[in-house]
Amino acid sequence: TNGTTLAIADPASQPGLQVFSLAGQVALITGGGTGIGFEIARCMVAAGATVIITGRREAVLQESVAELGEGAHFVVNDVSDLGGTDTLIEQIEAEYGPLDILVNNAGINMKKPALEVTDEDFSRIIHTNLNAVFALTRAAARRMVPRGSGTIIMISSMAAYYGIDRVVAYAASKSAVEGMVKVLASEFSKHGVRVNAIAPGFIETEMSRTAMNSDPDRRDRAMRRTPMGKFGKPADIGHAAVFLASDAARYITGASLPVDGGNSIGF
Ligand code: NDP
Repeated sequence: TNGTTLAIADPASQPGLQVFSLAGQVALITGGGTGIGFEIARCMVAAGATVIITGRREAVLQESVAELGEGAHFVVNDVSDLGGTDTLIEQIEAEYGPLDILVNNAGINMKKPALEVTDEDFSRIIHTNLNAVFALTRAAARRMVPRGSGTIIMISSMAAYYGIDRVVAYAASKSAVEGMVKVLASEFSKHGVRVNAIAPGFIETEMSRTAMNSDPDRRDRAMRRTPMGKFGKPADIGHAAVFLASDAARYITGASLPVDGGNSIGF
């Protein structure tokens, strides 16, 4: 119009795929030795980040770090030990520098009809999937918020979106995490710290294999309500995590991103 070029000037935007780069960033991924967490770690290393994975089994972590190669490190840590969260973050920052990215991926599941779930079962799942996520997030945010930068990603589940039978404690924990994302995003975003969730659909890992094997019909039912008609791969979650952690998602906070082959819309 009028011979002038209509361009939206944005000095902060970077050309090409550089906007997805995590070069120079430090990322902590809980439960990063296996399954989804491992692929998140692999994708973040590929995007240039220094990645620290945690878990309870040293041998698993050692093997995973060897496979991930340069840029990957591990710390043996049980997320359910809530008293150790501030120390874990301090230790990581002392060794690798300020933490830029926290991915709360570690989680446990249990399939039982609700009437058979004991108080102990319920507390165990809630403790690992919810209390531990809050404690570690608070420890990381205590560093990120004053610095004015950082990003936190929760690994949620379809169990937070619609009713899946026999996972009452797991669904309660993931639904609570989704609620927490919104509150933390509203508190932290003005301080430059974004908080988001990824809600994976049916992804092929040890956890989903165990669940499917205990209920042969479940695979068919899951596929019937997944428009893409196939399971996802852990790397599908890894790619989404890189996106959400990167500058490409700099205006996204308080969101829950389904990565589920359409499972959440069902049919
Ligand atoms: P896996 O069982 O393969 O991985 C879970 C990881 O978490 C393991 O590396 C485990 O390591 C770690 N972990 C468990 N408890 C603790 C703990 N107390 N402290 C530290 N680490 C712990 O499962 P997935 O990869 O499938 O699951 C990853 C996340 O994705 C979970 O939050 C899960 O709820 C979610 N998810 C998975 C879906 C799927 O279809 N697979 C679907 C939706 C959500 P270790 O045992 O050595 O401690």
